[in-house]
Amino acid sequence: MFAIMFGLGATGFAQSNQETNPFLSEYTTPFKVPPFHLIKLEHYIPAFEKGIEEQKKEVDAIINNPKAPTFENTILALDKSGRLLTKVSAVFYSLNGAETSPEMQKIAREIAPKVTAHRDNISLNEKLFQRIKSVYENRDKMKLNALQKRTVERYYDDFVRNGANLSESDKEKLREINQKLSQLGLKFGENLLDETNKNFILVIENPDDLDGLSQDIIDAAAITAKQFGHDGKWVFTLQKPSMIPFLQYSKKRELREKLYMGYLMRGNNNDKFDNKAIILEIANLRAQKAKLLGYNTFAEYVISNNMAKTPEAVYNFLNEVLEPALKAAEHDRDAMQAIIDREGGNFKLAAWDWWYYAEKLRKEKYDLDESELKPYFMLDNVRDGMFYVATQLYGITFTKRTDLPIYHPEVEVFEVKDSKGKHVGLLYLDYHPRPGKRVGAWCGRFRQQTYENGKKITPIVTIVTNFTRPTATTPALLTWDEVETLFHEFGHALHGLFTDGPYDRIAGSVPRDMVELPSQIMEHWSRQPQVLKVYAKHYQTGEVIPDALVEKLQLSQTFNQGFATVEYIAASILDLDWHSFTEPRQVDVMQFENESMQRINLMPEIYPRYRTPYFNHIVGGYAAGYYVYLWAEVLDSDAFNAFVETGNIFNREVAEKFRKHILSEGGNDDGMVQYLKFRGKAPSIEPLLKNRGLK
Ligand SMILES: [Zn+2]
Repeated sequence: MFAIMFGLGATGFAQSNQETNPFLSEYTTPFKVPPFHLIKLEHYIPAFEKGIEEQKKEVDAIINNPKAPTFENTILALDKSGRLLTKVSAVFYSLNGAETSPEMQKIAREIAPKVTAHRDNISLNEKLFQRIKSVYENRDKMKLNALQKRTVERYYDDFVRNGANLSESDKEKLREINQKLSQLGLKFGENLLDETNKNFILVIENPDDLDGLSQDIIDAAAITAKQFGHDGKWVFTLQKPSMIPFLQYSKKRELREKLYMGYLMRGNNNDKFDNKAIILEIANLRAQKAKLLGYNTFAEYVISNNMAKTPEAVYNFLNEVLEPALKAAEHDRDAMQAIIDREGGNFKLAAWDWWYYAEKLRKEKYDLDESELKPYFMLDNVRDGMFYVATQLYGITFTKRTDLPIYHPEVEVFEVKDSKGKHVGLLYLDYHPRPGKRVGAWCGRFRQQTYENGKKITPIVTIVTNFTRPTATTPALLTWDEVETLFHEFGHALHGLFTDGPYDRIAGSVPRDMVELPSQIMEHWSRQPQVLKVYAKHYQTGEVIPDALVEKLQLSQTFNQGFATVEYIAASILDLDWHSFTEPRQVDVMQFENESMQRINLMPEIYPRYRTPYFNHIVGGYAAGYYVYLWAEVLDSDAFNAFVETGNIFNREVAEKFRKHILSEGGNDDGMVQYLKFRGKAPSIEPLLKNRGLK
């Protein structure tokens, strides 16, 4: 693409950059969507650079303003700064995830340090902070409305949490700590990558040792063996798609043990890939950082910014769910032991046996075969099913648009309108894997809702997934997991579409432990029999999914949830324990983990989902925050119950409140305050326990 454009330029067709770079002037497309047909690789870097330059000028204008700091000349000016940078970033980073190339990655590497340095120049700008602080300290005298006051407080907090209030020497200490933390984090991740992908494989030479495995698992293992230079043999790795099927189906108990122990010992082999000393140093540096910033522990520093507010609240919550989860897990363990005994196995169930006997138990209890479901989940039908739910709840409609530029021929665009036909925003859907697409599923945006001079600019959101492709003879048929994923991401999309507020800093900005409420609640509708009857139709016959299958699907939802909940909570508590140091400590890392797990009476058949030397989440962005998914699940289960309680899962009155207080205005106040406005009472844990079959 680069070469072609260069050729055009050389023959004189291309105009100067300023005139042809679509980022540098207003888009002229319908709804001002990004003109993908005009955006070329060479437009990004100049647009990023211009965007940085513009925001730098805007910030300079704020700090050089001779007038006393006010909401308008400081907070609002900052809030509205950096428009061009936001505009080009939204397109570039979306496409770098959904449709990247070596050229895009090269641009990303070139631009990252520049953008980071630019952001640091703003967040560490002393003069800017002094103006923000002045507004903050005078905010009660300034006749600000509630939203303006909250915006001031959020900006002030952001700066303070970054160390803006520290003395020069303490700032220097903080910078050193951050520097060390980022280096240690990289090293931890690199070690883990080697420990997962290189340092351990299970090589099988004797076909007898494949006993129990289906042909597709064996075939995949043969391909893996080739990659590792073991032609003609079979290789299983510590990657979950390779390991889990082996644990589920291999009849060779000693090999299950070998593979699972390889997994459990990652980063803990006392060699150059060992992560124990690294994680201890990270925990200690974070304890120092928390102290510098005025908190007792790092967990306090993180959670004070969340809905839960205090580590105690999180511990209490986790322990409350843990108790029934342990009971359910013990119950399943006993049922599996009974199978072992019945089969004449003369041993006690161990951690590496769990998956294998869970599969036997699943077959005994539900007899549900995933392949029975798939024909009912044609992608287009599932999509229409989720649109149907949104129409029932919020009265919005979805109209396919084929007149807008798209970045890949497979992308679909829908215009979202409210019940009166007014434009709400646009939704881009991009379903299938491609070589340039990152794995997983996510919801992003090409444009965030905002206000310009009092006028609303509508959002453009995207859902990107990696779902099964259609074949020559069958349309795209989804697995149950993919169905739930689509509804989940659609929930994030609705959040983006409905967000409404004049200040970018707070509009749509909900605390971390609330982010998954809008998404996870949509999963509840996906599995309601009444909704399944609308979208789950056989792709060949059009026959609606039979009741018996719906029932099996519903029952299987709670299967093995004791195990899943226990291993998740164990990891969440381990995370909190590592971030509860009030000062640096010298501990034996594995002994610390064992004691932590003994305190919660973790059963020996279950390990925390992540053990300390390979708990990458807590090294990265989820430090003292691994709990957030389950916390949000309390909210989504309780919120969905608000509908159920009325006897109508599409109750418009409840939907209207949810839309207003959570989706549109969720960032306007503390998470719990917004939740109370919606629900009228604090969330109860009961619906979650019931959904997980723990009660
Ligand atoms: Zn999500």
